[in-house]
Amino acid sequence: MLYHIATYGCQMNEYDSGVLATMMESEGCVATDDPSAADFILVNTCSVRQKAEDTALARISKFKPFKRANPNLKIVLAGCMAKNHGESLIQKMPLIDYVIGPDHYRKIPDILFGNPVHASRKNSAARTMVEFDSLEMYKDASAKLASPFSTYVAIQRGCNKHCSYCIVPHVRGPEKYREEAGVLREVREAAERGVREITLLGQTVNAYRSGDTSFAKLLEQVSLVPGIERIRFTSPHPRHYTPELIDVLLGNPKVCAHAHIPLQSGSNVMLKKMRRQHQIDDFLRITEKLRGANPLYGLTTDIICGFVGETESDFEQTLEVVREVQFDSAFMFIYSPREGTESAREPETLSEEEKKERHRRLVDLQNEITLARNRMMIGNTECILVERPSTRNPEEWVGKTGNFKKVIFRPAGSVSPGAWANIHIDDIRGWTLRGTPAEE
Ligand code: SF4
Repeated sequence: MLYHIATYGCQMNEYDSGVLATMMESEGCVATDDPSAADFILVNTCSVRQKAEDTALARISKFKPFKRANPNLKIVLAGCMAKNHGESLIQKMPLIDYVIGPDHYRKIPDILFGNPVHASRKNSAARTMVEFDSLEMYKDASAKLASPFSTYVAIQRGCNKHCSYCIVPHVRGPEKYREEAGVLREVREAAERGVREITLLGQTVNAYRSGDTSFAKLLEQVSLVPGIERIRFTSPHPRHYTPELIDVLLGNPKVCAHAHIPLQSGSNVMLKKMRRQHQIDDFLRITEKLRGANPLYGLTTDIICGFVGETESDFEQTLEVVREVQFDSAFMFIYSPREGTESAREPETLSEEEKKERHRRLVDLQNEITLARNRMMIGNTECILVERPSTRNPEEWVGKTGNFKKVIFRPAGSVSPGAWANIHIDDIRGWTLRGTPAEE
C-alpha cells in the first residue's frame, strides 16, 4: 500500500508529517511522491493565513480523478484547518474521507487500516476528530527523519499567549509540554541514525517545562547526547528568555549562536494591542546581552507592518528598533486580518497601499542591514554543516554556519551531506556567503 503526504505551513507541521509517515510505515505502507499512485493521501494543512487554506483545498480538489480511478483511495485532511473548520470541510468537499485534528493522529492507523468501526462511519461528524486533547503529546513518537543529518524534535505544542492577530491558540489549543525522557529518547535515536543537528520545536518553545526541567536545562541535556553537534530551536517568545537560558545560549558551544525572536512591532502601543505581553525594553535587553557577548550572534525576526491602529510614529519606532538591533534577516509581513482572531473584529485603519508603502520602507532598510551583517563575515573561517550540492552549479556545495547563514563553496575533494567543513568566507553575493575550504 502506498501513502502520500502533502505538508503545508510551519516546521511543526513538517515534524507532524514525519510522525504521520512513521505511523503509516509501521502499518507496512510505503511513501510515494506521486499522489495518483497512492492508496492513502494525507494533507497536513495550515491556517495561519486564508491563502494557506485556499491552497490546500485547491490541491485536494485535484485528487478527484485519482479517486475516480481508485475508489478505495482514502483522503485525510489533517493539521490546523481540521480544527478550524471541522466537519464542514467534508460537507464542502466530499472527496475528503476524514478530518483529523493535530491531537488525534494516533487514531489514524486504526481508522485507515482496519478497525471496522471507523470504516463504517458514514456521516461527516463521525469522520471528524478535532477536539483538543490536553494529554496527547505523542511522547513515544519518532518522526521520520527530515534529513539524514538534521531533524526536528517537537517538545511543546499549543500556545497560551493569545496574541490578538494569531490563529494558533484557536487551532492548536493550550500549551502542553513533552516529557524530557521522550524528547531525549527521540534525540538519541536520531543521533544513532547519524543526525548531527537537532532543531527543538514549539510554538513558544522556550516556555518549555517538564517537572523541574526548564528549556535551558533541556538544551544542556540534549547537548550531552553523543553524536549531537548542533542544537537549534524555534519559535521562542521574548517573555521566556530567562538569565538561565541566556547563560546556556552563550555558554554551551553546541547551542548554535542564532535565535529567531519575533519582534512584530517596535512600538509598545502596538505590542499592547497585539497582546505580545512584553515591552520593547524587554526585547532589547535580550538582543543586547546576546550581541554584547558575541557581535556575530545571529538574530532573525518576524515583523508585522500596518497592524490595526498603527500610526506613522508607531511604524517609525519599528524602523528605529530594526536599525538598533541590526537583525541578520527578517520575515516581514503586511498585516491581514485572520478570521477568528481578536484583531480581525476591528476595522482596519490603513489602506492596502499605505500598508504596502510601509512594508517597502521596512524591506529596503532590512535589506541594507542584511548585506552589512553578511559583510561582517568576510575574512572569517566558519565551520559549516554541509547540506547539498548547489542547485545552480553542482560543482559547488551549500551549507550553514552556526549563526544560520547560507554558504556556497567549491569543495577541494569529495564532500557529502552532513559533513563538517571549515570554510574561509571570501565574499558575499546577494544573501549568500561565498567561501573556499580553509585548508586551501
Ligand atoms: S506566541 Fe502569539 S504569535 Fe506565537 S503562536 Fe502564540 S499566539 Fe501565535
